[in-house]
Amino acid sequence: MSETINAFQMAQRQFDGVAKQLNLDPQVSEILRMPLREFKFQIPVRMDDGSIRSFTGYRVQHNDARGPHKGGIRFHPSETLDTVRALAMWMTWKCSVADIPLGGGKGGVPVDSATLSISEKERLCRGWVQQMWKNIGPRNDVPAPDVGTTPQMMGWMMDEYSKLVGHYTPGVITGKPLGGGGSLGRTEATGYGAIYTVREAMKHLKMDPTKCVAAMQGFGNVTQYASIGFKEILGGKVACVSCWDNQDKTSYTYSHKDGVDPKFLQSITDQYGTINKDKARAAGYVIEDGDAWITKEADVLMPGALEGQVNAETIKKMSSRVKIVAEGANGPTTPEADDFFKKNNIFNIPDFLANAGGVTCSYFESVQNDMNYYWTKAEVLERLDTKMTQAFHSVLEMSESEKVYMRDAAYMVAIARVVKAMELRGWI
Ligand code: GLU
Repeated sequence: MSETINAFQMAQRQFDGVAKQLNLDPQVSEILRMPLREFKFQIPVRMDDGSIRSFTGYRVQHNDARGPHKGGIRFHPSETLDTVRALAMWMTWKCSVADIPLGGGKGGVPVDSATLSISEKERLCRGWVQQMWKNIGPRNDVPAPDVGTTPQMMGWMMDEYSKLVGHYTPGVITGKPLGGGGSLGRTEATGYGAIYTVREAMKHLKMDPTKCVAAMQGFGNVTQYASIGFKEILGGKVACVSCWDNQDKTSYTYSHKDGVDPKFLQSITDQYGTINKDKARAAGYVIEDGDAWITKEADVLMPGALEGQVNAETIKKMSSRVKIVAEGANGPTTPEADDFFKKNNIFNIPDFLANAGGVTCSYFESVQNDMNYYWTKAEVLERLDTKMTQAFHSVLEMSESEKVYMRDAAYMVAIARVVKAMELRGWI
């Protein structure tokens, strides 16, 4: 993230630009450019050595006009109230653009979870719920995983909530483990969802995916499955992925002359998400610095890590071959980089459209929890494909009819639906 702009300012700047284009009533904009509710609390946790450490917890509920607040909980050392606000706001637009009946929310704890033992993590997760349980719930606000949080953590959180309310309530949280109220397909959902939108973008741009190369940033849940999907669903080649290295506290880019094999890389990734460099080298991988991913000759770029990674500095190194930027991460592109894409006619699949697959599958998970009846993986992925394809085309149509950039079109579709729901409920 550049020093001059933080994620929340960036989210508000994007919103303000579109609110102006839409001629939105300033009184309505005022409601939407700030979250409806914010929680900040302390979570005292007994550490394994007997000491007590107090963590800060956040939950921001941006808007619930279309349905219960929805959005992940992030455990990351650089988490701040402003990143959580931005991410909560983006969740409102994400659920709206995907046309699922949910609003926006996000939570976080500034912590490096790799420094905690398993039992400390469990106590922190349970502590988060102890502070928030009165303000979350299946009809109110439904958290999920995000950066630094896992299905196991969601399982603990669901268990804590169920104990506090006195009955089994799987629908309070999504992204739960399989067999513990989770849905088949949830693990693949964000990455595959992004690939479905890339497939539709390629059809629109008349590109043959089997002749295309992608360069991806990150190797967390999103990029792992986006890279598998790019190869297996589209038949393309993935030039590189990048990955945070937990020992060296920096990231590296992993490329291979024949394209990377994501399943092999998954098999040599440890529980903290670090790829084993020796094993990668032995298998012929070239390891470069973390920014090298953006310099690769590729038709598709997929930033799939944190905010602000595609910015005025990094785009200078981008190859002129790039035609599509599909944003697997939330908020990876700064407004300066957006201007560059517009000028250079680079097709953007904005974050809250490209990565909406995760929350869409979370929605399916809560529907299955409510029914207490579970679908097959093929059923889940087919429904996901239908939803993502519809979402992509509603944005593309808006972009063509209003002659606007894809990100602005996505905002237009999303904001219009939220405003409509606010009107219908008599809020405005
Ligand atoms: N954290 C994911 C996101 O940013 C998933 C949210 C959810 O499933 O509620 O979209």
